[in-house]
Formats: sequence, C-alpha cells, structure tokens
Amino acid sequence: MTTVAAAESIDSIRAAIAAGERTATAVAESCLDRIAQADAQVHAFLSVDREFALAQARSIDERAAKGEELPVLAGVPIGIKDVLTLEGFPATAGSKILEGYRPPYTATAVRKLAEAGAVFPGKLNCDEFAMGSSNENSAYGPVHNPHALDRVPGGSSGGSAAAVAAGMVPATLGTDTGGSIRQPASFCGVVGVLPTYGRVSRYGLIAFASSLDRVGPFAGSVRDAATVLGVIAGQDPMDATSSPLPVPDYKADLDRGVKGMRIGVPAEYFAEGLDAEVRSAIEGGIEKLRAEGAEIKAISLPHTQYAIPAYYVIATAEASSNLARFDGVRYGFRAPKADTLAAMYRRTRDLGFGAEVKRRILLGTYVLSHGYYDAYYRKAQQVRRLLTEDFLKAFGEVDAIVTPTAPTPAFRIGEKADDPVSMYLADIYTVTASLAGICGVSVPCGKSREGLPIGMQILGRHFDEGTIFRVGRAVERLSA
Ligand code: GLN
Repeated sequence: MTTVAAAESIDSIRAAIAAGERTATAVAESCLDRIAQADAQVHAFLSVDREFALAQARSIDERAAKGEELPVLAGVPIGIKDVLTLEGFPATAGSKILEGYRPPYTATAVRKLAEAGAVFPGKLNCDEFAMGSSNENSAYGPVHNPHALDRVPGGSSGGSAAAVAAGMVPATLGTDTGGSIRQPASFCGVVGVLPTYGRVSRYGLIAFASSLDRVGPFAGSVRDAATVLGVIAGQDPMDATSSPLPVPDYKADLDRGVKGMRIGVPAEYFAEGLDAEVRSAIEGGIEKLRAEGAEIKAISLPHTQYAIPAYYVIATAEASSNLARFDGVRYGFRAPKADTLAAMYRRTRDLGFGAEVKRRILLGTYVLSHGYYDAYYRKAQQVRRLLTEDFLKAFGEVDAIVTPTAPTPAFRIGEKADDPVSMYLADIYTVTASLAGICGVSVPCGKSREGLPIGMQILGRHFDEGTIFRVGRAVERLSA
C-alpha cells in the first residue's frame, strides 16, 4: 500500500487560477481533502486550520475577480514546519514544553510566502526542537514515510517531506541544522534545499543552534523549490546574519544542462558505511551527468571524518544556551503543583522536554563548562574552520560537488531508536555543508529494490544556489 501521490506543480496551480479555470478556494479544498484522506496514516500535520486556509484562498479569488495581477504563489497551498511561527497559530516545535503556545509574531519566511499569495493549511510535525534524523523524537508521535508506512520519513523536517511526498501540498518549509531538510527529502523522494547560511532570514524560527539553523523549501520538483526559495530569500532587518546580496532569478539557468560544468566527487563520501544500493544509484546518476557533458573530477575533502563529532559539540553547545529560555514562565507549558520558583523551573523542564532534548542540553552544557571548553568546544570550532577550507579549496577546482544525501534509504520506525550514535551517523554526509555554511540540495536519484527513494546531494559555493539547481534539474530529468 502506498500513500504516495504527485502534488500539482506551483506553476500549474497559479496558471489555472490566473486563467479563471479554477478558484483558489477549490485548490485549497482539494488540498484539505487530501490531507484529511492521507494524514490519518502519515501524520505529517500537527495542526490544520481549514477556516483560515479557506479565508486566505477566498481573498485570492477576490483579487482574481477584480482582475488584479496575481503574485507568484497565488493560491498555492504551502505547509509550514512547526518550528516556524505564524502569529496566533500553534508553534510547538514538536515539544510538549510549547503546548498551547501561540506566538505573537510571524516568521519572515512565512510572512513572505503569505505576501506572495500562499495559502497555509497547517503546521507540520517534526523532531522536538528539530533534534533528530527520523521524526521519532516528536512529542506528538512519529511521521510515517508515504513510500512505506513502517519506515521513518527522516528528520527533523519529517512532516515537511512526507506532506509533499503524499501529494498533500506542492511545497513546504522546513529547517536544516545538520541535514534536516536534505535527509528527509532523500528518504521521501522529494526535493529539499539547504540555502546558504544568511540567504533566508531566521527571524521567527524557534532556535536550535543559531550558527547552523537555516530555513528552506521542500517541493516535488527543482523548479518549484527554486520558486519558493526566490520568494523567501533576502535580507531582513530582523536577522543580523541575513545577507544583503541581491536575490538572483533562481530559475534563469535551470534548463541549461551540465555540459562543460566541473563536478566534484569526494572520495570520503563513498567509503565504508555506504549502502550498496545507494552507492550504485548515485554512481549511476554521476555517469549520466558525465554522458551529458559534465566533467567529473575526483576530489578530496580530507577533514570529513571529524565532522560528526564537531557538529554534535557545536550544535549541542548552542542548543543548551538557546533552550535555557523554556522555563515555564514565558512560553507554553508550566508544570503544576510546584511549591517554589526553582521547583517550578525544574519540573517544567523535566516534564516538558523529551529524552533527546535533555541529552543535548546536558552534552552542550558539559562541552561549554570550565575545563572542557578548550578540549571540546574550541577544538570543534577549529575543525569547523578546516572543513570550510576543504570546501573552499575544492570549489577552486569544481563548480559543484555531488554525494549521496544519506548513507542508507529510509530505515524502519524503531530501528535506531535506542542507539543515538547510529542515529547521529545518518547525518554523516549532510553536517559538513551545515558547518561550512555552503548551499545544497537533495534531488531524487533512483530507488532501492524495495522501492525506497534515494537522494543525490548537490553542494555549491556560498550563495551559488543557481548552480546547484541547474545540476539538480539535470539529475531530475536524467532520472525520470
Ligand atoms: N539530525 C541532526 C540532529 O539531530 C540534524 C538536525 C537538524 O538539521 N535540525 O541534530
């Protein structure tokens, strides 16, 4: 049994509405019906607000009726990961500690989508505070992979990937700190984009690790993902790390093909631990790029082996600081029956956070503590620098780098639940780009014998999303 369905493309929805062939209301209704039908099994959504979505759609229809020029996402349903805020709507971040919290403000990326005419059917399930690789750390239950319901969708943006794969919405927003967009995109057979750090504002994103967190799109095609990135990208006075560089037209070069491009294949990403079927799918994809005229070059990113430990030091250190704000006073859940303020803090955090979040807060506090700071945190920052230099050097010789997105196809729900280290290793090919700040995309590139999707990761220079979309579009066309 499969719950997979192709979502309609963004361009076709917008064109049909602009031509008066369909109403935005009809599009929203069919999206809400599809959610009602498929989500009982997939559990991608944590909240659905039918009335709100229909009201947004009606306002698009009114504008169309007046003959107004419609914006680029007019009437296009887009799901939002529940770590991003939309004023007045739940934002649980997959955690019990934010139960009942209704943020008083809207994330910049979400606001930009709304201004471009998007319709929001609801908020999407994810690992608690985006910590995880399987969506099993959600306090509200796991998401099921639409390709095989007993498998994980990947994480932490599991709901965002599964909602697109199940044809519930044409696109979603997710976040990626160490792989949380690319890895679930790979597991669910959709496109997922890690924009360059600074390309998309983080304002209104519930923070996990601020030097690594990024907001990016999922979609059914490279073209649709490029459309959504074009809408959400750009400088924002509310995020001092957002870049002033102008946002190019990401679709301009999409169909130019890869002839003459130099594409690097790093030996370190095809070593021990890579599943044989994933290897052969990715190698097959690389051969097709070569046949199209790309120059394939063997490269080395020599510090790759240190990336997982460096990531889990830096990410947990930042998380321990960011998550200090959840104390039962300011947001969401407060533990009942505590006699003193200190006891209330303790009980709220004890009952409100799940096991993985607690593990990270403990680890992060430890690596920042006096006497261990130099041994762990400073060392990890040095490794981060070396990893970045590996990439900068490689990009002197090649225009893009291709690798598997994840070492295996989607694993079974429960399979790694008791083994955090093996779970952390699911991010082995994705955390490097996170630490280096460069951009990446995961594009479907074949399937396993069991029919599970396999994703190719394409990495590009800082702010060079146009190039990875161009390669991604070629991979998509060649694997169709
Ligand atoms: N799986 C990684 C982690 O658990 C990455 C998560 C993410 O990118 N948000 O930290």
